[in-house]
Amino acid sequence: MTEQEIFGWIEGIQHPGREDKTLAELEIVREVVVDGSSVTVILAFPRKPDPLKNYLVGAVKAAIYREAPEGTTVEVKTVVSDPAPQKKAPELGLDQVANVGHIIGIASGKGGVGKSTVAVNLAVALARQGFRVGLADADVYGPSVPLMTGTEGSVPEMVREGEQDLMVPVEKFGVKWMSIGYFARPDQALIWRGPMACSALKQMILQVKWGPLDFLLIDLPPGTGDIHISLVNDIPMTGAVIVTTPQTVALADVRKGIDLFQNPAVGRRILGIVENMAWFTPEEHPEEKYYIFGRDGGASMASEFGVPLLGSIPLVQSLRESGDTGEPAALGSRPDSLAFLSLASALTSAL
Ligand code: ADP
Repeated sequence: MTEQEIFGWIEGIQHPGREDKTLAELEIVREVVVDGSSVTVILAFPRKPDPLKNYLVGAVKAAIYREAPEGTTVEVKTVVSDPAPQKKAPELGLDQVANVGHIIGIASGKGGVGKSTVAVNLAVALARQGFRVGLADADVYGPSVPLMTGTEGSVPEMVREGEQDLMVPVEKFGVKWMSIGYFARPDQALIWRGPMACSALKQMILQVKWGPLDFLLIDLPPGTGDIHISLVNDIPMTGAVIVTTPQTVALADVRKGIDLFQNPAVGRRILGIVENMAWFTPEEHPEEKYYIFGRDGGASMASEFGVPLLGSIPLVQSLRESGDTGEPAALGSRPDSLAFLSLASALTSAL
């Protein structure tokens, strides 16, 4: 009589209180030990009292006695399967965003379209127009806000308020910035998975001492996965701005982005589309426009989805450079700077 055999005799026993699932399916058999003619079985039950525990202990014994050679003794022990509940950290509530006029998600169906560039410059442009603005970099996989704002190396202060430790955002250019990038060394890859990523980025939004704001922009991670669904559900966003490039291939991504916010269960507003890299302008000829990805892609995309086109941002080398040097383009007065200022105006009128 082997442990394997004994397991085979008992694994099919059904639990009448749990939809007749078998002990194997419920992973109740923790261990079977055979020592000569004595058998010990350990069954693991959840902490919650199971009224059928004794019945199952009896059923296991009976099944073994039925098959085992005469003279076998059987002992069935029970243990608790789940660990003692840990003292939970206080739930993240909405207190810290209670005094925010509009929470706006900046989203894109895929990465690399300039979502963070648009988010950072839109924040700066809104601040230039006199609004109180915060930006939460929820792109936990590739936080770019510290670099784009020249705030890398800043370490947000922590303050205790009631039961909670709150992070104080980093202030620069009249905007309050918060990013998971402030908490990781630049050379450290951020490996976040599913629920961990989700709770980390909720902290970047809800555990921050924002104070009163007119706008809190959320630079969402690219894509439309579970994290997004959970964020869109749990964060009271006024609506979303979808960033895209004019190529027709981007249509499918934009559609996914829009569906994420507009599915009936969530029903957040799409405030509009921003067409980034709408045309190319050479640095030395700022008045010239080359429609390398085709013309009016953004406008036709917007009309196809029945949402406004909030702005078109040119592709210019200095815009990339300003991202790399931490001086957002929206601080200046070049044509691309002005594009962000008019985007800010279009957004405030859409609201
Ligand atoms: P995303 O957040 O969608 O991944 P980023 O904002 O990080 O994209 O932009 C990707 C790269 O493209 C960055 O190097 C950025 O500086 C550059 N970039 C974005 N928009 C423009 C633009 N309009 N002109 C020039 N470079 C741009």
